[in-house]
Amino acid sequence: MTVGDAVKAKLVMDLRAQGIRDMRVLEALETTPRELFVSGPFVDQAYLDQSLPISCGQTISQPFIVAFMTEQLRLNERSKVLEIGTGSGYQAAVLSKLCRRVYTIERYRTLSIKAQKLFEKLALRNITTLVGDGYKGWPQQAPFDHIIVTAAAAEVPQALADQLSETGIMIIPVDEGRGHQALLKVERDGDGFKETKLMSVRFVPMVAGVAREKGVAREK
Ligand code: SAH
Repeated sequence: MTVGDAVKAKLVMDLRAQGIRDMRVLEALETTPRELFVSGPFVDQAYLDQSLPISCGQTISQPFIVAFMTEQLRLNERSKVLEIGTGSGYQAAVLSKLCRRVYTIERYRTLSIKAQKLFEKLALRNITTLVGDGYKGWPQQAPFDHIIVTAAAAEVPQALADQLSETGIMIIPVDEGRGHQALLKVERDGDGFKETKLMSVRFVPMVAGVAREKGVAREK
């Protein structure tokens, strides 16, 4: 066993101890090389259960949160999933192992391109990326069985709720005021929506519109 395997195994044990029970989710995290998704200076910390900085002032989510949100989505091999906030691409890579197809939207072109390269490198062929505004969702590809939002919104965006399939599930952090955020599960049942608060969380904010970046769009 290499050192890498040992730290990975420890992370998975920690996730189990924190209540993650779905073996498929644990296996998806164990087989996704998080060290490739974090920035250079933080590679040593890739298998600690913490969020870390990535480019464009954003963060890669904490493994526990990735595992918890993924578990709550209740994916199956036929699921079509929409992710808002590609970021490093780590969450999308984990999802891709548990469903048919992942559509992921990011407002920073730099991050989207970087993530796309990693998906190619890892031969994750069922992920489609888009540079766009996640508040609008992806109407051309809707409906989605599952929607996961990895940035905190002011409220549940109506466009995203409308793009859920009849029995769809959305997991989304929303602001509760005074710096608090709640992770919500939104379950659709025909025309109705049921909201359940799952836990308190801390995500970067969801920001409307595509990000304006200087001189990065042509990065190869
Ligand atoms: N899922 C990511 C987490 C990244 S942090 C990972 O696994 O690494 C959240 C991301 O959401 C940031 O990259 C941020 O730029 C993006 N984001 C924020 N508002 C957005 C919006 N309106 N549309 C698309 N992406 C958005």
